[in-house]
Amino acid sequence: MGRGKESKTVEFLKKAYNSLLDSMFPEGYRCLGCGTELKSEFHSRALCDECADSLPFKTGKLCSVCGTGIFVGTLCRHCSCALPEYDKAYAPFFYEGLARKFVLDLKSRGREYIADYMAEYMYLYYSSLGIEADVVVNVPSTPRTLKRRGFDHTALIAEAFAARAELPFLSLLKRISHKKDQTKLSYAERFASVGGAFGLADASGAANKTVLLIDDVLTTGATASECAAVLKSAGAKRVNVLTFAR
Ligand SMILES: [Zn+2]
Ligand SMILES: [Zn+2]
Repeated sequence: MGRGKESKTVEFLKKAYNSLLDSMFPEGYRCLGCGTELKSEFHSRALCDECADSLPFKTGKLCSVCGTGIFVGTLCRHCSCALPEYDKAYAPFFYEGLARKFVLDLKSRGREYIADYMAEYMYLYYSSLGIEADVVVNVPSTPRTLKRRGFDHTALIAEAFAARAELPFLSLLKRISHKKDQTKLSYAERFASVGGAFGLADASGAANKTVLLIDDVLTTGATASECAAVLKSAGAKRVNVLTFAR
């Protein structure tokens, strides 16, 4: 992605606050970032000025495959050693500051409406870059996480995104085993541990399609890479990844 296009995207996203809906204020008209009460003229954008200015939009030079920040060349060191199974990963935000808070609000604090808010930004990013997709598929949570949380947060995001993008949302993937907590593993351990964690819930939906795989955060990319391998084994032509943060 060229630098010009990228900064235009940031401008576009910044202007997009006004398109956010009242439905994103289930706890009253308060800033979703810091909780301060919003004055009436700010209601439609869900954030106070300070929080809006602190959103960690992804800028600068990015790896052309996984989207991580780099200083030189076109690929990061991981992608230059071994390309992932997915084709290209996109995310509007770095996983820090407010973007991190939104993800944690959704996952750990059960604020399901945040999924809609995140999907809005992901949709604006998707449409401004013209990302290719025929169907939307989520990275499913483990049965244990589902039971604890009571909802599948990536399914909520994917569903809200798909509705905006007017694309079919298909639950093509399923977890086939519970693995050790990924956040406690090193980079190499994560790649080794993720193998065999996903299977197909429905083998028919991916054939000859460009799949847009949705997750909340892309960290090492190991999970997305395995999901992409499974989807490609089911005939997917291309697998792009869209996460809220990277
Ligand atoms: Zn605020
Ligand atoms: Zn990379």
